[in-house]
Amino acid sequence: MFGSLSERLSGVFDRLRGRGALTEDDVRQAMREVRIALLEADVALPVVRDFVSKITEKAIGHNVLKSVTPGQQVVKIVYDALVEMLGSDTSDLNLAVNPPAVILMVGLQGSGKTTTSAKLGKKLKEKDHKKVLMASLDVHRPAAQEQLATLGQQADVPTLPIIAGQQPVEIAQRALTSARLQGYDVVILDTAGRLHIDQLLMDEMKAVADSSQPAETLLVVDALAGQDAVNIARSFSEQVDLTGVILTRMDGDARGGAALSMRAVTGKPIKFVGTSEKLDGLSPFHPDRVANRILG
Ligand code: GDP
Repeated sequence: MFGSLSERLSGVFDRLRGRGALTEDDVRQAMREVRIALLEADVALPVVRDFVSKITEKAIGHNVLKSVTPGQQVVKIVYDALVEMLGSDTSDLNLAVNPPAVILMVGLQGSGKTTTSAKLGKKLKEKDHKKVLMASLDVHRPAAQEQLATLGQQADVPTLPIIAGQQPVEIAQRALTSARLQGYDVVILDTAGRLHIDQLLMDEMKAVADSSQPAETLLVVDALAGQDAVNIARSFSEQVDLTGVILTRMDGDARGGAALSMRAVTGKPIKFVGTSEKLDGLSPFHPDRVANRILG
């Protein structure tokens, strides 16, 4: 992840730092190379444009070029802008509501939504000592509800008993009632995915959101999907009030574009990343660490 982007950028910045003095042309040339590196890493075009114009303006202004270490300063400007692009604010879950706090998991089929629901349930139970109930609202894909039940057993997080024939809103309501009666802190609702975005999926998701008033609505996206991940995120964020994004398969060889574009496209932070198929493969997202990794 980020390997080739990081290599390209270190090349550009080593050259900048290696020089005592910098001209405006040197900076502009470096920024052109940054632009190409970001585009090749699949970062969305409008995000790249905005990023490069912001850093160019800063780098050639503010007396950077007249300073003793202009190269260092330009790199610092890029670092700060990268952290901002990745989302500099806190990525903690906001579950401070009257219990049970509902977490609505949304995303396309195959994005890793069900696995991530179980990972999140396990984390909330083990690390945050919450009493968590999970329920699958996927009545469309055969065995989807059983899949969550199996993962729940592996994670040692209870799932709502399955009643055949119930519709998503009914299942969500049953989960909330059970949670209230049994003193659960958190209910994770795993909504149905589809292969492509369609209006039925969105309508179903909105109906569930309206009836369950989620404290968090998390979009699960596959980081390997590159530019597609960005388009998927844009569509979902236009239809539902997302509170955050979880990028899965960050252990794969994704070029980084999805991670770098998500914040700008959805306006919401990446809260977690999936780092393996295993149920403990979920990590909080730290923009500063990622920026450090990208800039070597
Ligand atoms: P859903 O259709 O969105 O519910 O997707 P699933 O949860 O069934 O996941 C699809 C596949 O992706 C499964 O084989 C998961 O084990 C795998 N998967 C999910 N998250 C990750 C991840 O972060 N890393 C890796 N390597 N595999 C993942």
